[in-house]
Amino acid sequence: FSAAATTLILIPLARLRASFLTLGRSLSSSRRLFGRSMASESVTRFDFLVIGGGSGGLAGARRAAELGATAAVIESHKLGGTCVSKNRPAPVMWNTSTHAEYLHDHEDYGFEEAKAHFNWQLIKRKRDAYVSRLNQIYLNNLDKAKIESIHGYARFTDDPEPTVEVNGKKYTALHILIATGGHPSTVSENDVPGASLGIISDGFFELESCPKRSVIAGAGYIAVEMAGILSTLGSKTSIIIRQGGVLRNFDALISSNCTKELQNHGIDLRKNTQVRSVQKTDKGLSVTLVTIDPDDKDAQEKYNTIHEVDCLLWAIGREPNTSGLNLSSIGVKLDEKGHIVVDEFQNTTRAGVYAVGDVCGRALLTPVAIAAGRKLAHRLFEGKADSKINYNNIPTVVFSHPPIGTVGLTEDEAIKTWGKDNVKVYTTSFTPMYYAITTRKSQCIMKLVCAGQNEKVVGLHMQGFGCDEMLQGFAVAVNMGATKEDFDRTIAIHPTSSEELVTLR
Ligand code: NDP
Repeated sequence: FSAAATTLILIPLARLRASFLTLGRSLSSSRRLFGRSMASESVTRFDFLVIGGGSGGLAGARRAAELGATAAVIESHKLGGTCVSKNRPAPVMWNTSTHAEYLHDHEDYGFEEAKAHFNWQLIKRKRDAYVSRLNQIYLNNLDKAKIESIHGYARFTDDPEPTVEVNGKKYTALHILIATGGHPSTVSENDVPGASLGIISDGFFELESCPKRSVIAGAGYIAVEMAGILSTLGSKTSIIIRQGGVLRNFDALISSNCTKELQNHGIDLRKNTQVRSVQKTDKGLSVTLVTIDPDDKDAQEKYNTIHEVDCLLWAIGREPNTSGLNLSSIGVKLDEKGHIVVDEFQNTTRAGVYAVGDVCGRALLTPVAIAAGRKLAHRLFEGKADSKINYNNIPTVVFSHPPIGTVGLTEDEAIKTWGKDNVKVYTTSFTPMYYAITTRKSQCIMKLVCAGQNEKVVGLHMQGFGCDEMLQGFAVAVNMGATKEDFDRTIAIHPTSSEELVTLR
């Protein structure tokens, strides 16, 4: 048989369509059928070669395999990427801390003298076991899909055709996907002496006990989530922010409310402050802070030291994993922060090389990477030329206390897009039903941003009890272009918090 004929006979019928599409490629991609490379003895070929076994890479590889492509995934660590190593354990810890919160309400709900001893090691053991199970599931999924798993670091070679080398072996494909993700930013010792005495989010998941005294530097998702978790579980926590509020790229109402909620939770929040230096003492770390009042032109820097700190956590953003890939050799362009520049179809500046997920620096969220990987596979292996993800209206939840749910434009963004006169905003603030009989109270705030004459809902922002689970359904409505009238026409579910969104005036 010729290579093409062999391909047609051996593949199941369901894969025929994809195989026709990739027939030309199949001549060079039937590695599994022939057990050796076709183009060159020293280069192993696939239809789809994925660098990075995180959410985006695995989703793309599995969908490509389902569509009949031969695929391989190169990963230097465990499979699953940031999603498995952090995005799953973090909600476990958020759920843990939510239990700690509810304990305060047990007496109000009639459970007298309900006391509990919290065992950090127990939840850590269970959390670690859960992560190991997930790693194994990801590996099994690759095996089931007959996707080759290659362990090691990939680096592009200088070959004329895009080719990577892993542990001295060369691999290539008609389509190569870079999905290498990112890593937490750190602070250099030059900028902050002693900075390396702090940990990043990876270190948080290695802690063997709950720190008694924590200091968190940063104002984004991770800082807010970790501050809430640590404080609720009993750590005296300070959060150090450079400006006047946290989550500054969220709607202003969310930013100000979340900043207030952190303080309501007893977290020591230091505004306009940065870590200046860190010293190790026999009682833990001494973290020296510098604060400057931005409203006072003559203000002097004020120094302050927090002593006996057992956990200093840097949560100041993430950087792309692009440095070791030798991308310049194949003409893949990076932006000034090192992210891979891609177009709306995830094409890089080199034909046949694509990128998805955090390495592209846009909407650093697991489901975004997964959707982008799958859409790309449909485009490459199913001939769906317009298959791409829509980066508008991506819903997101911050697992703060209480949680935040947000989708669409902030009020400021809507005004910039539609003009002030064309934007109408509806807000509410109330005490959720859960707190009707509790001593501990927490507010829920909501905002609908509507635009145009028909008041299309272009943004929905909320923080409060249950907002994490409330968001997904409303995000469908926003994505479908629902108007305020559509919301109003929907009968409320009483008594819930979500009913407030359909009764706003
Ligand atoms: P973010 O990008 O969310 O926030 C980092 C913030 O830290 C910056 O916005 C900045 O705020 C502040 N910052 C930056 N540099 C410094 C510095 N040198 N000193 C003090 N503060 C600084 O980053 P995160 O690390 O929190 O999270 C990374 C990404 O992970 C997020 O973008 C998010 O997409 C994802 N993520 C998603 C989660 C979810 O879906 N629930 C959970 C966790 C992470 P400012 O300018 O105001 O100072």
